[in-house]
Amino acid sequence: MPGSDTPAVFAPGATIGIIGGGQLGRMTATAAAQLGYRSHVFCQSPDEPAAQVAHQTTIAAFENTGALDRFAADIDVATLEFENIPLKSVEYLEARIAVRPNSGALAIAQDRVKEKDFVTAAGIATAPYHAITDSGELASAVANLGTPAILKTARLGYDGKGQVRIDPSTDLDAAWANSGAGISTGGAILEGFIEFEREISVIAARATDGAQASYVPVENRHANHILAETTVPAPISSDTAAAATNVARRLIENLEIVGLLAVEMFVARNGSVLVNEIAPRPHNSGHWTIDACAISQFELLVRTVCGLPLGSTERHADATMKNLIGDDVDNWQTYLADPATRLHLYGKAETRQGRKMGHVTWLIPRAQP
Ligand code: AMP
Repeated sequence: MPGSDTPAVFAPGATIGIIGGGQLGRMTATAAAQLGYRSHVFCQSPDEPAAQVAHQTTIAAFENTGALDRFAADIDVATLEFENIPLKSVEYLEARIAVRPNSGALAIAQDRVKEKDFVTAAGIATAPYHAITDSGELASAVANLGTPAILKTARLGYDGKGQVRIDPSTDLDAAWANSGAGISTGGAILEGFIEFEREISVIAARATDGAQASYVPVENRHANHILAETTVPAPISSDTAAAATNVARRLIENLEIVGLLAVEMFVARNGSVLVNEIAPRPHNSGHWTIDACAISQFELLVRTVCGLPLGSTERHADATMKNLIGDDVDNWQTYLADPATRLHLYGKAETRQGRKMGHVTWLIPRAQP
C-alpha cells in the first residue's frame, strides 16, 4: 500500500511538496516556514503566488512524469492546494511518496456527482440531485426535480463557472449547450434550488492517528458566485452549529483524509444543514484563522501532513474576512491604515475582474468571561 511504510512524523527541516501554486499554497508555505519546514511548489509559472515564497519550485505540466519523479525525489511528503489536479498525477505521486490528502478523497471531491453520492451514502443531506449525461436526461430530471434548479458541470467548475439556472421558461437544449457539460467533460449534475437561510462552512482536520479538530462554523456571503465575505462565528443556533460540525467530522473520517476538509453547507429555514460542496484542502472561508486563532488552517494542514500534534483551533477573536477581488485591491492603503484590520496580498502581478488578489480580516476581540 502506498505510504504504509512512511514514518508517522516528518520533523521540522523536512520538505513539504505543495501541488499547485495559488494563494492557498502560498499561505501553506508561509506556515510551513514558520515551523522550520521547506516547501517545494509544483506549478506552472515561477510567478504564481506560492512559487514566490517557496524554497524550491518545479515548473511543469502536472502530466509531466519526469517532473513528478524529480519532485517526489526532493520532498518528504506532498499535499495539494486545489482540486483540479489530474487524478492520475496524484496517483503517480502516491505510488512514490506519502500524499496527504489521499487520491481517493480527491477523486470524490473533483466530481460533483461522486461527491453528492458519497455524502448521501453517509446519511447526510444534500440538495436533491440527478446525474446528467445528455440534454434528454436533463429534460426528465427537470420534470422530476421541478424549477428553479441549477445545472452544474460535474467537473472543473469553481466560483460559479459552468453553472446555469433552470427556470420554467429555460430552453433546456440551450442550457445544456451553455453549461459546457458533455460526456467528454464528465457530464453534469442538476440540483434542486435550495431556498436557504444562509450559507456556512466548517473546516475539519484529521491527523495520522485519526485525531480530529475543527474550527467554529462560519457564515459565507457570495457575490457573483465568488466568496465575498466570511463572518465568524456564523449567527446560528448551537444545535445547527453542532450538526454542521458533526457533518464535517463524519465526512473527513469517512474519506480517511489526513489533512483538512472544508465543507460548505446551506442552512435551511428550519435550521437543518445540507452539504453543498467539499474540498480536501485549506479553504477561502478559513483565512480568518490566520489572524484570529493561535493555529491557522494552514499551520493545521502542515501539522496534519507532518504527523505533528493538532493543537488548538480555538479563536481569540471573532472576525470578518473580506476578499479583495479585482480592483478592490486598489484600496490596500485604506486597509493598512485601519488599526483593526489585517491585510494579506497574494503577490499577483495582474489585477483581473473576478480574480482573488488578497483579503482583509477585521478582528473583534472576544469578551472575557
Ligand atoms: P457551488 O459552485 O456549488 O459552490 O455554487 C456556488 C454558489 O451558488 C453557492 O455558494 C450558492 O450560493 C449557489 N448555489 C449552488 N447550488 C445551489 C442550490 N442547489 N440551491 C441554491 N443555491 C445554490
